[in-house]
Amino acid sequence: MQDWYFIDDKQAFGKRVKGGTIDFVFDPPSPASDANDQKWQNGNLVWGSPLKKRIKSAFTQSKDFKFEVFCDWLTTDDCHVSLDSSEKDQWGSPVARVKVGAHPHDLKVGSYIVEKGKQVMKNLGARSVRGSAFSSPTSNLVAGGLRFGHDPKTSALDADCRVHGTDNCFVTDGGFMPNGGSVTPTFTIYANSFRVSDIILKQV
Ligand SMILES: Cc1cc2nc3c(=O)[nH]c(=O)nc-3n(C[C@H](O)[C@H](O)[C@H](O)COP(=O)(O)OP(=O)(O)OC[C@H]3O[C@@H](n4cnc5c(N)ncnc54)[C@H](O)[C@@H]3O)c2cc1C
Repeated sequence: MQDWYFIDDKQAFGKRVKGGTIDFVFDPPSPASDANDQKWQNGNLVWGSPLKKRIKSAFTQSKDFKFEVFCDWLTTDDCHVSLDSSEKDQWGSPVARVKVGAHPHDLKVGSYIVEKGKQVMKNLGARSVRGSAFSSPTSNLVAGGLRFGHDPKTSALDADCRVHGTDNCFVTDGGFMPNGGSVTPTFTIYANSFRVSDIILKQV
């Protein structure tokens, strides 16, 4: 759902802001762990026929349904790589220190959209809905390590994803993206790779 891709709620944000995408998904099947979850009920261990009944019921009468929210990761000075002042690698060079911080606005937007997603679940008939937003970045949607931009002082790549100051060194993975774009990023990474490939071909 992209009903809140832009949020026009002056009361909550004071102005129109960029929102995000809600992705409704069934939990990926994981039979062993799903069955394992059934062995506890109100803190008590369940076994024998009651456990078999619970497992049968879980597999035939219920389905986990959830939603995920994707919103921008605004660039922030709280997110950067620096060199450690004392720790060195095997060649005697300072090791990298990675600081992964988040912009407070991201959390505000995420929390707002989570509430919308919960409301959609309720409107679909769900009786018990829970949801939460967190500012720590997900480890599986990594981007922004080599941001593109016009100014070599604030970006590693130029607008064509060429390393600033070089002729033929291009980077087309998720590193070029200054933020996630409020969607899952992979198709954008693909699209940009094709765009940059055309630029490289013209240069050959
Ligand atoms: C569990 C999971 C679920 C995900 N779900 C989604 C989703 O639903 N939708 C979505 O859009 N995105 C999803 N993603 C994110 C998506 O997979 C990444 O955003 C995308 O793959 C990033 O592309 P990339 O080219 O930047 O890096 P990668 O795809 O990680 O490619 C990097 C490549 O570089 C290679 N490599 C690394 N070091 C070296 C080296 N020294 N020499 C040579 N090669 C090297 C690696 O082997 C790898 O092939 C998911 C990721 C995970 C882990």
